[in-house]
This record gives sequence, structure tokens and C-alpha cells, in this order.
Amino acid sequence: MTAEPHQPIPRVLVADDDPIARSLTRAGLEQAGFLVLEAEDGEGALVLYDQQRPDLVVLDVMMPGLDGFQTCEELRRRPGGDRVPVLIMTGLEDIESVSRAYEVGATDFASKSITTLLLSHRVRYLLRGSRTLDALHESRTSLNRAQRIAQLGSWEWDLDTNRLLATEQTLRILGTTAWKFGGTVESYKQTIHPDDLESWIQSIEGLLSGQSPHSLDHRVMRITGVERMVHEEAEVERTPEGHPIRVIGTVQDVSDRRQAEAQLEYLAYFDHLTGLPNRRLFLDRLSHTLLTAIRYQRLGAVIALDIDRFKRINDTLGHSVGDQLLQEVGERLVQGIRRSDMLARYRAADEGSVTIARFGGDEFYLLLNEIGSAQDAAKVTTRLLEAIAKPYTAAEREIVLTASAGITLLPLDGEDVDTLLKHCDTAMHHAKEQGRSRYHFFSETLNVAAEARLELEESLRGAVDRGELRLHYQPQISLATRKIVGAEALIRWQHPNKGLVPPGDFIPLAEDSGLIVPIGAWVISTACAQAKVWQSMGLPLVRVAVNLSGIQFTESNVVDTVRDALETSGLDPMRFEVELTETIMMRQIQKMIATVGELKRLGIRITMDDFGTGYSSLAYLKHFDFDTLKIDRSFVKDLTSDNNSSAIVEAIIAMSHILDISTLAEGVETPEQSAALQRLGCDEVRATAQAARRQSLKRCGWSTVFSSQFPELSTEHR
Ligand code: GH3
Ligand code: MG
Repeated sequence: MTAEPHQPIPRVLVADDDPIARSLTRAGLEQAGFLVLEAEDGEGALVLYDQQRPDLVVLDVMMPGLDGFQTCEELRRRPGGDRVPVLIMTGLEDIESVSRAYEVGATDFASKSITTLLLSHRVRYLLRGSRTLDALHESRTSLNRAQRIAQLGSWEWDLDTNRLLATEQTLRILGTTAWKFGGTVESYKQTIHPDDLESWIQSIEGLLSGQSPHSLDHRVMRITGVERMVHEEAEVERTPEGHPIRVIGTVQDVSDRRQAEAQLEYLAYFDHLTGLPNRRLFLDRLSHTLLTAIRYQRLGAVIALDIDRFKRINDTLGHSVGDQLLQEVGERLVQGIRRSDMLARYRAADEGSVTIARFGGDEFYLLLNEIGSAQDAAKVTTRLLEAIAKPYTAAEREIVLTASAGITLLPLDGEDVDTLLKHCDTAMHHAKEQGRSRYHFFSETLNVAAEARLELEESLRGAVDRGELRLHYQPQISLATRKIVGAEALIRWQHPNKGLVPPGDFIPLAEDSGLIVPIGAWVISTACAQAKVWQSMGLPLVRVAVNLSGIQFTESNVVDTVRDALETSGLDPMRFEVELTETIMMRQIQKMIATVGELKRLGIRITMDDFGTGYSSLAYLKHFDFDTLKIDRSFVKDLTSDNNSSAIVEAIIAMSHILDISTLAEGVETPEQSAALQRLGCDEVRATAQAARRQSLKRCGWSTVFSSQFPELSTEHR
């Protein structure tokens, strides 16, 4: 048995100016077991209250100075005075005094004529009620305190009225206050981040229908605009029949925890110095890439990059300068990849398909998920090595760094992560041994090919100056008049040892190395000059066409080049034409629209090459003001044998004519093809070189003009 806790004797303060009434009250209350404190007026009652903090106050209405009402009002304003029960003895049983008593905050009232016995009972009831209220108040306070410590709020949503009662801590987490918060489920929803509201609603619906528990993280938007992440759980209360009546939920601010989790993950997977992925994340991605590459027969690459003689930097300039340089190297690698337009071509430009990691020290690794050929990996590496080799400014001086790289192809150079990385490292060390500042493939065959390419690139570099490039002209013939209306300039390289190198063998090389810019400029000026010569000879040749490369648009001002060539040669711009492929136009379409517009304003003609082989988007035809559209040779080849080809060609021609664009068919070999094209309404054709040689031109009926009047046509020209 436990002993009854000691209950202190309740103390009652009685304020009355009438000493007889006061002592009667006192006697009655003392008899009922209360301790009584006496005051003879309102002021006295307040002083005693402050000193003694009684458990209950009995006030007479009529007193000199402060009357009972005023005393009660004063009492309520005192700290703790808001909850002490106050009984006002009205003496006058009129409604007005009763309502006045409640207005000033009295707990109850009683007539002065009440017997002392009844008064004692009344006091006892009031004290009991007050104790219950105190206990409630206390438990609410401790709940709030506990919730504040746990940073956990709770709420109750009455489904009938839609009222939602939220605890103080809930309001704090939501960043609102009791008076701003509307207290309905709608006002609760307003605190949820708009992007998360839908999933919250779905989760609550799942809870109400009994299908799923409600447990989710969502963001809340505080009035201050601050966003927090909260975790919310809720249960539903049901009638015995299972009808939901109330939802009770808890809400917890987990922003800091989620941030800490993210921070931990970051530390586990990223390099702290550069912010790049670390070895662990790289290996994760690499094993995934390897699996996909093997399963889908794709080609990828792993490239190891190590700074040359980096110890020297640390030794001479200090470790912190070294760190700064490593950060800058990381930044340049990221930028270098982003700018690499070569990657765009192989669908690898989106961030996820390239991983750049720092393995620690001065060692960086690259993973290219998907490439077209080994050459792509070499191209990317060359660019990155160039980017690293640009001067740095650190410690108030200019510093030059170089790096060496090893390239492995996956899955060819290793079907598991360890083998690949080992081979990549071996290749990188070969590059170091061979003098640093270069790359080396793991595969020897690729090194031989890379060397041959490098050699070819070297000799191409001098080809323009040595006058080894030639232009061949292929005639373009009008089907209506059977006359030559133009010529397309095609480049050849007369290599001193290798003989004639076809454009397919050296143009990609020229594009990769940037040599295409001077070569392209040479083509434009030579073609203009030749056309002017033909014109001054009085030949009725209408125009000359050249092909442009995308690089000429991105890495030079092609408009200036064309303008210069026209001015220098004095050729009428109407007689000059440039050909663009769809691939060129697709890249940076806005910029292309602007540049093509500028070219058109020079007065030259624009042709779209290879129509029908790429996206063949009608949108391009609308945006670019083309004069001619070239029908690809693949359609012409099958024209007389395949109904589909014939239908496509017919559609292209019909559409072009509606848009007022003339059409030119490429690769015409036979009189049958020529006749079919004419029937379909094609304007012009370009014969193949073989056709010209086989003299089928003659059979087509245009050879006389061709061979006798244009000795330069289809022959080489410097
Ligand atoms: P090599 O051309 O053969 O690569 O010569 P190296 O001097 O660069 O030698 P190596 O790559 O083997 O060593 C890398 C050096 O990088 C070792 C160390 O001095 C330096 N290093 C490693 N980690 C850090 C780092 O976090 N910060 C700085 N500043 N230097 C580092
Ligand atoms: Mg190094």
C-alpha cells in the first residue's frame, strides 16, 4: 500500500468590507476544512493574493475603493491570476451583475444570502474543477515540451467538420502561428509545398480507404519562404462500423537529418578537393557501363589522366598552390567535356554519360559510356590534354602543366573493372615513358593507327601551302534545257606519296584538327575565282557550289570568308552557292538560322544537301530560306526499281515546288533515271563521275556542251 500523498489544505481568500459577514464566511469555510485569509477591500485582496497565492478567491461586489468586479479584473491580469477560480458574491440577484461578473472573468457567482454550508460546497466544487483544469494545463504543457524536444508535432483532423487541431510544435514546424493558421485541413494543405501536395493527397486517400499507411516525406513552405522537409505519419480513427471519423497525425522536421544524410553520401562518393566523383562512385558507374556495353554490344572508353611532374609543383610552390591547381584541372576537365561538340554527335553529351573522377593525388579518370569509335576517345583526350596545358595563374605567376593519358576501350580492353583500370594505368605509364604530354592506347593496333593519323594530319597541315589540294567540278544539268547550269566543287588531295586522297579520308581529319577552317576558306576562294574565269571566258555556266563543314560555322566566321572571296574575285554573288547538310543545321539551330540569313543577304544561293536521309524536317525548310534542295543519291539509285523510292522522290519534289524551292537529284547514272526524274518534275541533276567517264552523259543528250566547252569540268583544278 502506498501512503496518500500529502494534500495541502486549500486556502481561500475572502474579501469583504463588512467585518460581520466576513467572519461568518470565515467560520463556515474553516469548519468545512479550508484555511481562510481575510481582506477588507479590493486593494488588500490584491496585496494578499500576490503574497500568498491562495487557491480560490471570494470577492464581495460592494467594497470601498476597488469593487469586486474591478478587483477580479485586476486579478486576472496578474501572472498566474488568469487561472485561479474567483467567486463573486453579488448580493443583488439581478441579471446585470451576473453578466458583469462573467465579463470581468469570474468563475462563478453566488448570492450573498447563500448559507455558509452551501458556500462551502460551492467552493469545494470550484476547487475540484480548477484542479482538473490545472492538470489538463499541465499535461498540455508537458506534451508541448516533449514535442518541442523531439521536434515532433501532432495534429487531429475531424473529418466531419474538417477542423484540424495542430499542436504548438506543429505550428512551429510549419512556420506559422496559432492566429495565422486557419485551423482547417485546407489551411494545413496550404503549408505543403505545391509540388508535393498531390502525393500528400494521394497518400491520405490511401489511408482513408484503408489501402496503405500514411508515411511520407514532403516539403513545407514557411511564410518566410523557407523550405523545410518534414516526415509525416498518420492513423485513422473509425466508428465500430469502420467509418473514418478522425485522422491523427505526427509531423517531424527532418530537414537537418536529410541534409546530414546527403552530406554523408557526398563524403562517401565525392572527392572533397575538386567536388568530382571519387574512385568509389567511378567504379560503381564503370561496372554498370561495362555490363551494358557487353549486353548491348556498345563501345565505351576509360581514360586515365595524370599530371606530369606534379611533385615539382608541390615542392616549389607548396601544397596549397598544388591543391588550387588540382581544383582548376578538375574544372577544366568538366568544361572541356561540356564544350566537346564531338560528344554531341555520339549522343554522349548529356551529363550522365560522361563521368570525370579524381582518384586522389594528381590522377583523374574519365568514363565515356558510349562512343562511335576509338578515334572519339582519342579526340576527347586530345581536347582535354590541350585544356590542361593552357597556362594557369597561381601564386602570382604563370604556371604551365601538362598531363599524360592512357586510353582503354571497353569492353575490348577488359571485361571486368580491375583489368580495365590496370590496363588503363599501363597505357598511361607508356605515355609517360614516351616523353609525357601525350596519350597512349592500351591496344597496340590503335597506337599504330593513331600514329598514322597523326602523320597524315602533319602532312595535311602543309598541304594548302604546298598547293597539293585540288578542286574537281561536277556539272549540274537542267533537265528542261539539257544544259549545264552549274558545277559543284569537290576537293581532292594530291598527296606526294599516296597519290590522290579522296575527301572521305582526310576531311574528318581536317575537321578534328581544325584544319578545315583554312582548307574551307581555300575552297571558297578558289571556286569563286574559277567561276569568275569561266564567266569572263563567256561560258554560260550559271553558278558554282561548294560544300561547307559545320566546323566552319562554329570555329570561324564563314560569312566574312564568303564575302572576302566574292569581293576578291569580283564574282556576282548570284553565281555562288553553298551546300549545307541537315546535321549542320540541327546543331545550334537558332545560330544557324541567323548565319544562313546573313549568307542570303550577301546574295548567294543556299542548298540543303542530302535531303531525305536525316530528320528531313519540314521545319528546317520553313526556317531556312533555301533555294535548292538536293535529293539524296540513295533514292535516285532505286528510282526505277523501287516504288517507295519513286513515291518519296515525287513527294519531295511536289513539296519543294509548293515552297518555291528548286530540286536537284544527285548520282544520276542512267538515261532511265534521268527520264524518270524529269517525269516527276525534278529541275536539275548531277551526274556521277563514273557516269561522266562512261560517257553516259552523251546518251543523256548533254555531252556536247559538257566535253567541248568545259575542259575544266570534271578535271582537276588547282
Ligand atoms: P609523373 O609525371 O610521373 O606523374 O610525376 P609526378 O611528380 O606527378 O608523380 P606522381 O604522379 O607519381 O605523384 C603525384 C604527386 O602529386 C605526389 C604528391 O606530391 C602530389 N599530390 C598527391 N595528392 C595531392 C594533393 O591532394 N594535393 C597536392 N597539392 N598534391 C598532391
Ligand atoms: Mg603525376
